[in-house]
Amino acid sequence: MSKQKINKLIIGTNNKGKLREIKSLLPKRIKIYSTSQFNLRSPVENGKTFKENSLIKSRYFSKKTGFICLADDSGLEIDFLDKSPGIYSARWGGRHGDFSKAIRKVYRELNKKDKDWKSKKISARFICALSISYLNKKIACVLGNVEGYISDKPKGKNGFGYDPIFIPLKKRKTFGEMKPSQKYKMDHRYQAFKKIKKFL
Ligand code: IMP
Repeated sequence: MSKQKINKLIIGTNNKGKLREIKSLLPKRIKIYSTSQFNLRSPVENGKTFKENSLIKSRYFSKKTGFICLADDSGLEIDFLDKSPGIYSARWGGRHGDFSKAIRKVYRELNKKDKDWKSKKISARFICALSISYLNKKIACVLGNVEGYISDKPKGKNGFGYDPIFIPLKKRKTFGEMKPSQKYKMDHRYQAFKKIKKFL
């Protein structure tokens, strides 16, 4: 692999929460472009794993723009629900990406499985696959995760997605109650980023 540093790239996501977080992780020397500057829709994510979907995105946005692309595919796995929603995390929010709808579905599914679920610890984790591609070529693809459990009610207004219902291990607050700077130092994206930053 060439030792040359990357000095510009596009972040392959249309999710504003992810964009904000990935921007904060990247070194300042890199000029960052976003998909909205190119008016690009997201590709169909028909991979079977987080890594496959991440690579679909990084290859797609790189080919559309001619830039190196860093893309993320991520989601929440709830053990009690056989690891759902998993790669379908965004889809649980419906066509309009309504996060409160996705959260209601989590509680509905937990209630279906066991009316008494609130008396148990519902273990869960966020997973993030980050990939870097240049056109069709994969430069890197890594996984990061953060373990935790599901809160018995949504708490906090920060972040996005399932943040209000996820409490990381050894913490009392949900990601939704934490300041972004605190969440960004421990979450799945940060864990993946630590592994991929040597490729930047
Ligand atoms: P995708 O990777 O764009 O397919 O979507 C991932 C989905 O997982 C998001 O739409 C969120 O619902 C959820 N998700 C991923 N990362 C986070 C996070 O850091 N906080 C909360 N929800 C997340």
